[in-house]
Amino acid sequence: MIAIYPGSFDPITLGHVDIITRGSRLFERVIVLVSSNPNKVPMFSTAERIDQIERSIGHLSNVDIDHYDGLTITYARQRQAQVLLRGLRVLSDFEKELQMAHTNKTLADDIETLFLSTSTEYGFLSSSLVKEIARFGGPIDHLVPHHVAREIYQCYAQTPPASMPSPAMVNPAAPSPSVPKPMDCL
Ligand code: ADP
Repeated sequence: MIAIYPGSFDPITLGHVDIITRGSRLFERVIVLVSSNPNKVPMFSTAERIDQIERSIGHLSNVDIDHYDGLTITYARQRQAQVLLRGLRVLSDFEKELQMAHTNKTLADDIETLFLSTSTEYGFLSSSLVKEIARFGGPIDHLVPHHVAREIYQCYAQTPPASMPSPAMVNPAAPSPSVPKPMDCL
């Protein structure tokens, strides 16, 4: 069975990584679908978000990454997926997610929305919270993959807090932090 995990992923957090990892154990194939949310102005371009996701979950062999800006159910039909996977954190998620699930059911009765509840350690975690902490120079390396944390700091032109491992500690082949990768924040 193929499941689509749609979202903005702006940027991917460890909460998303957790849902993708657990989903990959339940389904033959999981497709992480990067889509635009008309209610949110993104920090990263679609290409940057795809790259961040690839580097975060590249070790999961049954997970693909794609992008699509139309209706998720149209994409799901194209890929012959039967399930839309979503994560649930708090009660406020539930209202919005249930409305979306019911709406999608009216559009495609044969496609089911399945919810995975967040792991307890990520129940509070959202992409916007991470950006808010980073904007003021706070530590985020326990909330997002290390390469994503570095890119967020580059966007805000903040120096990562001393607690954060340097790229060389995470990956000895990584370029020196004194040569930042050019990145345009959207
Ligand atoms: P969207 O703009 O579609 O809400 P997000 O990237 O914010 O996109 O979220 C994508 C999905 O991941 C949603 O189902 C959301 O509830 C879920 N999600 C986000 N953060 C977490 C988390 N910390 N734990 C579990 N699920 C999460």
